[in-house]
Parts: sequence; structure tokens; C-alpha cells
Amino acid sequence: MKKGTVFVLSGPAGSGKSTVREALMKRGLNFHYSISDTTRKPRGGEVDGVDYGFVTRQRFEEGIARGDYYEHAIYTGEYYGTPVSQLTPYIESGVNVILEIEVNGAMQVKKKDKNAVLVMLLPPSYSSLEARLRGRGTETEEKILKRLQRAKEEVLLFNKYDYFLLNEDNGVDACVRQLEIIAEAQSFRTKNYPDFTTKFFNT
Ligand code: 5GP
Repeated sequence: MKKGTVFVLSGPAGSGKSTVREALMKRGLNFHYSISDTTRKPRGGEVDGVDYGFVTRQRFEEGIARGDYYEHAIYTGEYYGTPVSQLTPYIESGVNVILEIEVNGAMQVKKKDKNAVLVMLLPPSYSSLEARLRGRGTETEEKILKRLQRAKEEVLLFNKYDYFLLNEDNGVDACVRQLEIIAEAQSFRTKNYPDFTTKFFNT
């Protein structure tokens, strides 16, 4: 049976990746969105088990020790990780999984799974990123500065990604369409058809 593909969507805070991912999920395609665990506190409106699994540091570290996380990273002082249970069973049963994660986690995924498809989403410029981040109004100045610093480091890993999506203002629909095209292209990869040549010669 054909396995699912892991799609990693990265982009600095303010790049619009949650909006793009949410819009993609609404299309009802064969995608499972992997719900991460984190030690950060929920922001207004976030629901445990829907947006994240909100866990304590102790629980997260126990999870790491048990091998419960497919990948994990520390981002601005908090743990974030993809539970194995959010990924492996879906891939094995042919469902694509989308991970919305930062760059260090993305590099771990790339190492573990050569077929994973890494997509980086960016706004047109650093200054537009800053404007979006401030416009969101959800974080303190200290957090914003930390995230901007982090954004610089993330953009420098651009070349490690397979695909790039430019998220212009009001560009969400375009990005979703482009993500769909990328996903569709993956289904034609020769490695998705390991038994085809055998069948070809025997039927
Ligand atoms: P936020 O606090 O804004 O929800 O997320 C901060 C950063 O952590 C974002 O770049 C987000 O994509 C990333 N992130 C969310 N979940 C995970 C995860 O499971 N693993 C990793 N490595 N990064 C994650």
C-alpha cells in the first residue's frame, strides 16, 4: 500500500503559515494536521488538544526520554514537539501529514525521512514580517524581539528547503493553491510505486 507523505511547513512567526495551513485543511484533502505538544502557555482562544497539547516541562521531558516525539526543538525558551502518534500511524495508512514546525525540527524530519517534503513560507521582506508580527498584537515587545531575531536565523536555512512559497499581502489563497500543486506532484514520484515495474512485466 502506498504510504502517506510528510509535508513540513515552516516560516517565521508572522509569515502566515497557520492561516495557510488552516485554509489548506478546509479543502478536505487527504491530509492530517499533526497537533504538536508544547510547554508554552495557551494564547487567547487556543484549545488544548486542538491547537496544541499543552503540557508541563516535566511531562515533555519524560516524553522525550520515552521516545514519544518524532522531532522536538526549543523555540524562544519553550519546548515544541511532534508526537510520534500524530505522524506514524497516518503515514503508514496512506494519509499525508502536515507538520507546521520551526526549522530545527524540520531538519530532524528531513534526516529521518528522505521522502519528506519541506516547504518554506515567507512574506516579501523582513520589514513586512516585522509589521505583521507587531500588527498581530498578541505578544509582548520582548517576545516580538525574540521572534524577530529567531526569524533571521530561520530564513538563513532557506536553501535546505525543497519549495518556497511567497506569501504576499492577501496571498493566502495563492499559497494554498501552490501547496496543493506541490502535494499533487509528490504523488507522481517514482518511489511511490515500488512494485510498478514488476506488475508491468507480469500482467
Ligand atoms: P507558536 O508559539 O507561535 O505557536 O509557535 C512557535 C514556533 O514553533 C512556530 O514556528 C511553530 O511552527 C513551531 N512549532 C509548533 N509546533 C512545533 C513542533 O511540534 N515542533 C517544532 N520543532 N516546532 C514547532
